[in-house]
Amino acid sequence: TLANDYSLLSDAARAFASGRRELFIDGEWRAPRAGRYRPVIDPSHGGAIAEVAEADAADVDDAVRAARRAFESGPWPAMRPHEREALMLKLAELIAAEAATIAQIETVNSGKLIQNTRLFDADFSVYTLRYMAGWATKLHGKTMELSVPYLPGARFSGFTRLQPLGVVAGITPWNVPLCEAVWKLAPVLATGCTIVLKPAEQTPLTTLRLAELCAEAGIPAGVVNVVTGSGAVAGAALVEHPGVDKINFTGSTEVGRIIAGSAGPRLKKYNLELGGKSPVVIAADADLGAAIPGAAWAILGNHGQNCCAGSRLYVHRSIFDKVVEGVAEIAASLKIGPGLDPSTGLGPMVSHAHRDRVLGYVERGVADGASLFFGGEAVDDPGAYLRPAIIVGARPTDAVVQEEIFGPVLVATPFDDMDGVMPQLNGTSFGLGASIWSRDFDLIEDFVDRVQAGTVWINNHNTLDLSLPFGGWKQSGVGHELGEEGLMSHLAIKAGVVRR
Ligand code: NAD
Repeated sequence: TLANDYSLLSDAARAFASGRRELFIDGEWRAPRAGRYRPVIDPSHGGAIAEVAEADAADVDDAVRAARRAFESGPWPAMRPHEREALMLKLAELIAAEAATIAQIETVNSGKLIQNTRLFDADFSVYTLRYMAGWATKLHGKTMELSVPYLPGARFSGFTRLQPLGVVAGITPWNVPLCEAVWKLAPVLATGCTIVLKPAEQTPLTTLRLAELCAEAGIPAGVVNVVTGSGAVAGAALVEHPGVDKINFTGSTEVGRIIAGSAGPRLKKYNLELGGKSPVVIAADADLGAAIPGAAWAILGNHGQNCCAGSRLYVHRSIFDKVVEGVAEIAASLKIGPGLDPSTGLGPMVSHAHRDRVLGYVERGVADGASLFFGGEAVDDPGAYLRPAIIVGARPTDAVVQEEIFGPVLVATPFDDMDGVMPQLNGTSFGLGASIWSRDFDLIEDFVDRVQAGTVWINNHNTLDLSLPFGGWKQSGVGHELGEEGLMSHLAIKAGVVRR
């Protein structure tokens, strides 16, 4: 079978990824009040490796109270920016020191490749903390002379002051578990907010380890809390809790809509990073030596379990067959196996349920009249494995073109010119990312102008950096994460007027 070989794990990884994990509230491990636990599954074989607490509304209340107390009266609000910066850098150092172990824990919990969990969940988390730590000492308001035209004779000056927004609920998905948790955590620490994190049901382990490292770094009790449990109970209780000021959510558009529906009438601030159906365009003049592996990586990276996955491929008709064959060749060359094995090119999906959902879409595509050009079937193994799929001949209205599949399923379509293809590129409810492969400046400019997406990539796909704001247009999201914008959304602006 293709199960992970646990002899590859470090002792620390083996210890943390087994046994029972409690809730992390107010700087300590606490058993859930109702005493319920949920198994943590390794999708490479489908068996349980550990168990985590199943929080209910009472546990969430404890966590939010701890975060409120830390925000209002703990040592946290009195700390100066350089002290918060130092704690963040210390936390980054602790994660960096055990990056290999963290990557292993993430891999056995999620099925992701070990190279991927190392580069993103571990190393990119370190980079995120260091980047946001730099902001802690650079937050400032403005001063200005005021006109106040209706009070002639009096003189006023004005200022703005930026203050931390309060208690943040960070609700994260399973596809980049630690990295998403740190994306939520880092701006919270930089601005002086506090947080309750709720990781996805499938992948709670590294977020729990993160909490432990926060305590080890010296971040005061209550600033960082983690409640594990279901979205419908723990997640919903967090969103509804009156002690939460802001919700920072990454996940599906469907759940994003539920959260907006709950947070909206409560007038809470919220950020939603949601699903996508991102197009990849390969123009006739593209450098195919880069574009073909680029298009393959865009859909196969993280097994297609990527919000920005390039799941719709539009190729100029003159090179369509060559490109699709090239992508299929790359897909066929990937060795299917467990994530811990460094020679694996494609690991299991996060769960069996998700694998079956992905394959259900392939079946539906074929039933709707499209053809399966490559792959698209389960691997005969106890693990949640499948072969990536390439679908051709789908209509723009088909489910495989319109809906987020969140797996390695590519729908390839030929096009003749930009005017003709643009309505298709923009013809879904999503607007997260879009890429173009070309050397023609005018064509690229035209694409960048007209495509509806929060991020555009030119001759690359899905390259993220902390310096850029990340967010979705249309039903792919509300607000931004990362960059200066992702930081500012954690601050309340207070305007001041001084009579002179
Ligand atoms: P999901 O929406 O099912 O779950 C995300 C999180 O929300 C989980 O922690 C879950 O427990 C919680 N949740 C579920 N119901 C809830 C409720 N009623 N109230 C509060 N919380 C609730 O998503 P998923 O399956 O974990 O992740 C995959 C999705 O995430 C995909 O749609 C993907 O595109 C999206 N995603 C988006 C981005 C982005 O930045 N735009 C990044 C990664 C993933």
